Amino acid sequence: MSALFEEIKPYMDKGMAAKAALTLLEWDQETLAPPMADEWTAKVVGGLSNIYLESLVNDDVKKKLEKLQNEREFSQLSVIEQAIVKEWENVIQQLDPIPQKEYQAYTELVARAGNIWAKAKEKNDFRVFCPYLKEIVEYKRKFAMYRKKARKDRKIELYDILLEDYEPGFTIEKLDSFFEEIKKELVPFIQKVVKKGSKKNYRLPRAKYNIEKQQEFCKWLAGYVGFDFSKGVLGESEHPFSTNLHNHDVRISDHYYEENLESAIFSIIHETGHALYEFGIDSEITMTLVGFGTSMGMHESQSRFYENIIGRSESFWKPIYIKLQETFPEQLQNVPIEDFIQAINRVEPGMIRTEADELTYSLHVLVRYEAEKMLLSKEIEVEDLPGVWNEKYEEYLGVSPDSDKNGVLQDVHWSCGDFGYFPSYALGTAVSAQIYKNMQEVMPVEEYLENGNLLPIRDYLKEHIYQYGKRKNTNEILEEMTGEEFNASYYIQYLKEKYSKLYDINGE
Ligand code: ZN
Repeated sequence: MSALFEEIKPYMDKGMAAKAALTLLEWDQETLAPPMADEWTAKVVGGLSNIYLESLVNDDVKKKLEKLQNEREFSQLSVIEQAIVKEWENVIQQLDPIPQKEYQAYTELVARAGNIWAKAKEKNDFRVFCPYLKEIVEYKRKFAMYRKKARKDRKIELYDILLEDYEPGFTIEKLDSFFEEIKKELVPFIQKVVKKGSKKNYRLPRAKYNIEKQQEFCKWLAGYVGFDFSKGVLGESEHPFSTNLHNHDVRISDHYYEENLESAIFSIIHETGHALYEFGIDSEITMTLVGFGTSMGMHESQSRFYENIIGRSESFWKPIYIKLQETFPEQLQNVPIEDFIQAINRVEPGMIRTEADELTYSLHVLVRYEAEKMLLSKEIEVEDLPGVWNEKYEEYLGVSPDSDKNGVLQDVHWSCGDFGYFPSYALGTAVSAQIYKNMQEVMPVEEYLENGNLLPIRDYLKEHIYQYGKRKNTNEILEEMTGEEFNASYYIQYLKEKYSKLYDINGE
């Protein structure tokens, strides 16, 4: 190890410790913390964020990093150290231009805003949340502006800067063309499917599904997909999510509805997909700056690969459907697996992103992408959001949200300041189809699934994606794994093939 790297490493260790503590608090806030704690815990979060920031971005670190980037110094570093140095540079570019006081005020604001958003949603009133969201958007614009000033590329759009935080390399230009293709290819195809759907829209029986039984089944299912309970925790929260302290402490949560069995099942498969990624990070890099999934898009590619491509396939359910029937005999004993598969792949344009079917999902993301772009460029203001939201839902999905709760207030992301995050959901979904195509060429995926043997699939993903953490970006991973960079056509092709078959549509 280079002496210089040795000198800056303690800064990283301290920063990573603060980050782990922040992660744990965030988990706690979503799962167990009492409702009155928010205001007070926000101060703790502010303090810890400060420690994180001061550890990773300070004059000593900046000086030493600059020296380390000198060619001779850099060549003496190990491959992992080189990756850390590069990532650290990115972190500095992200955080350094932002005045510390403003950053701290911002983190305290978003720590409080979560609670306000939840109240607004409960009251079904956007006006409750609006002033907070305005403040958050102001900060996002200001921070992006600081970052824009600090770099040479003066022409870059503010929203491009935010996108970099979630999916480096995927700019407005690239995303615009990706979403254009989705609009052009999928909107008319979905209309065909919906028209055909009236005859084929199977549903699971409307019944009550005991929550304790759901919990038990979902816990079993997480393990079946590969969740390792000796290194992971399954909790409960309003919105299912996943997070991790390091590769030996990965946490996922689920939410159970008595009258909706599918929700908990597919959420747990989804979150387990995220968890597998973090379990699979190499121990040599966990708790370093590169010891996390490489991007939000790549992360979503894993969760959605398991949730949709694997988890909604007949091969996946063949060996385990009987167990679900045995768990809910009254409700499911008369539902053959063929009907179950049709039901869980039912296409139905709706108002809620997290409940959306696989085929219409990207259009929900499209609405958010366009709204965020307009907000950042000041084409619209926060007050305009509910209106813009509803119009776009009408245009792309043919549904008009009946309330703020089922419309603009449905997602938590904006209350956390996560602008630029949504596109990675659609991108990741498309990436998962590209990965699936590759996987089918190198292994008998369906056969493994039918035998209930998911290990080779997990191992393959670990070998080509998980172990590297942030050492490789999305396009590098795809290029090495599939022989080409991101290509949306596999996604369109996958959807058309699958749903033409399910809905008996010819000529597609
Ligand atoms: Zn996810």
